[in-house]
Amino acid sequence: MQNNDPFIGAQKQLEKVKKLINLEDNIFEQLKSPQKFLEVSIPVKMDNGSLKVFKGFRSQFNNSRGPYKGGIRFHPQVNESEVKALSMWMALKTAVVGIPLGGGKGGVIVNPKELSAHELEKLSRGYIQGIYKLIGPTVDVPAPDVYTDPKIMGWMLDEYEKLTGGGAPGVITGKPLSIGGSKARGYSTAQGGFYVLQQAVKKIKLKDLRVAVQGFGNAGATMAKIVAENGYNVVAVSDSHGGIYNADGLDIEKLFQHKEKTGSVVNFAEAKNIEDDILSQEVDILILAALENSVTLENADKIKAQLVIELANGPITAEGDEILSRIGAIVVPDILANAGGVAVSYFEQVQNAYGYYWEEKDILEKLEKIMVESFGEVWSRKEKYSSDMRTGAYALAVERIAQAMRDRGMA
Ligand code: NAD
Repeated sequence: MQNNDPFIGAQKQLEKVKKLINLEDNIFEQLKSPQKFLEVSIPVKMDNGSLKVFKGFRSQFNNSRGPYKGGIRFHPQVNESEVKALSMWMALKTAVVGIPLGGGKGGVIVNPKELSAHELEKLSRGYIQGIYKLIGPTVDVPAPDVYTDPKIMGWMLDEYEKLTGGGAPGVITGKPLSIGGSKARGYSTAQGGFYVLQQAVKKIKLKDLRVAVQGFGNAGATMAKIVAENGYNVVAVSDSHGGIYNADGLDIEKLFQHKEKTGSVVNFAEAKNIEDDILSQEVDILILAALENSVTLENADKIKAQLVIELANGPITAEGDEILSRIGAIVVPDILANAGGVAVSYFEQVQNAYGYYWEEKDILEKLEKIMVESFGEVWSRKEKYSSDMRTGAYALAVERIAQAMRDRGMA
């Protein structure tokens, strides 16, 4: 039977790593659930005069390596289990890339597309009113996630500073540049994913570079653009409406314009629509940038790519992972592949703390160094434990968190 409850899945992964690295029980027990979990009710006076109460969460998973860090998701399917799992993955992610932060996550159950701009602003400010005593630049630092963006971060920062009575730009990252955002933050997830993709291509000596991208949204479309600019042949992409294919490679710039005009990638003049699944296309590299649980027991064996990059969080179920491992595909796991976003969020915090802002090229240089070194560390754990890259990444992350906990006397 398949169980796709994300927090149960995350706990199972942790249990597997516990045995592998001989993690002491005292630490394992503390890593099984968040250190703190808050649920808030957010009343919002709607434009038509009625009052609606939204439910929001903040999960503070672990702060032994530094302040809790993680985005805020606005989505109708947000739930307690998902927020907890995402907060655990954030703690692992910051540890994999070795930045001095812990893990947290927030969410509000809402379909933001159904709100007016005014209602969305009230909801964003209301969420901060509910959690502001729990966050701060050295305590817990939120950021954007699915359906939240720099504009929302701007409202949230403003509300926090009004409530606390001082300038505190470092309380939130992914802000607009005019109020302390960082250059390169907008495309940092895809850029970081590209740096690890290059390392993986070198490692497994991949010659042909045909790429498919599932999910042509913020992360996936930016990734498609970056890989195409770097000489890879992006032959297939998809979104929630369907997929397209062109063996000679898609013109990504033109595809952006087509999507802008029509709202989807399908029916692009320079490609044919894909009848079956994007996962089954003849490609060498598959980039997963859509949803959780999109590769499962039912479809994993259709994948022909030798290299799979998880730009989305949790796109492959545990059963899907086992199949990919059996057919010999190399999977670069989410906690490494999409960590470029949090790495540049960390740079944003550092710049806010110093009040001194860096050039884009300096940020990219620092990001590349982090991603390349982290890839090397994960790969060496993979070899050490004769495992897949996910297990290697989990082992590295848990080793680092556990060491910080021992050093604090928490063992
Ligand atoms: P988004 O909403 O901008 O994009 C998601 C895309 O997936 C959309 O184009 C949507 O049409 C497509 N999609 C939905 N269902 C699909 C399906 N069945 N088949 C193919 N495509 C489908 O979201 P995003 O910000 O790009 O985030 C995507 C994933 O990446 C999430 O898991 C998110 O947590 C993760 N991520 C994003 C960032 C970031 O900076 N944007 C950072 C870290 C992780």
